[in-house]
Amino acid sequence: MAKITTFEAGYCTHPGCMALKGAGWRICRFPARSWLLEVGERRWLWDTGYASWFEHYTRKGLFQLYRRVTPVNFDPAESMVRQLQAAGLAPGDLNGLILSHFHADHVAGLRDFPDVSFIASGEGWAQTRHLRGFAALRQGFIPGLIPEAFETHLQAMESFTLQPLPAELQPFTEGYVLPDSHGEILLVPLPGHASGHIGAFVQTDSGWTLLASDAAWAPANYQEMRGPSRMANLIMADPAAYYRTLGMLHQLWLGGKVTILLCHEGDL
Ligand SMILES: [Zn+2]
Repeated sequence: MAKITTFEAGYCTHPGCMALKGAGWRICRFPARSWLLEVGERRWLWDTGYASWFEHYTRKGLFQLYRRVTPVNFDPAESMVRQLQAAGLAPGDLNGLILSHFHADHVAGLRDFPDVSFIASGEGWAQTRHLRGFAALRQGFIPGLIPEAFETHLQAMESFTLQPLPAELQPFTEGYVLPDSHGEILLVPLPGHASGHIGAFVQTDSGWTLLASDAAWAPANYQEMRGPSRMANLIMADPAAYYRTLGMLHQLWLGGKVTILLCHEGDL
């Protein structure tokens, strides 16, 4: 069965109520998680969290605003390329780097993995690739973080085989099989948070896990159907779709058969 190892590559801070209505103004930590997924000898990295490139591309100009709005704590030793190295893995040991979406705190380390295959929603990339300046900033996208050869290394999730999901994963009904994962990693669209936002069902020894990325920022979002602050709607690609997806996570959670992991759940 597939194995999931959790990493954190930096964190940002925000008032708790930004991520969860009614949580108050206490400043909370939101770690930027990355997951190493393994099936036999195959390995994929899910997102990169922060990396030194984030600091580099937000140092001056318009994108300075990004780091003012989300103050980031990051030590270069925490970059995923360094953490994998410490675990004995080089970028070339990865079969692919899967991107849940194109927000800067998920793709900041791409330049550390220049020759790795990237896997993402092709539709999401088509909606994101042309964004520049303020339009990019509003979508949390920093064009400089994307390596020049990104598109030549990109495999669109939509090109993978779509298959029905087991009944225990309802209300989710179909997913894209990650090639070479023996059907143990299935990619699913989780629309609303950002263009092309995706998650994955991973079959582990202890059952199915949903890597739900940023479909929620805290478990209370889907457990109590209590969304983030209205202010957060400003940065969402599609608030109505976000709440539909949150409703699906709620049903999945009620079913009690699947572990749900989020990229940023922290000390809220
Ligand atoms: Zn995001």
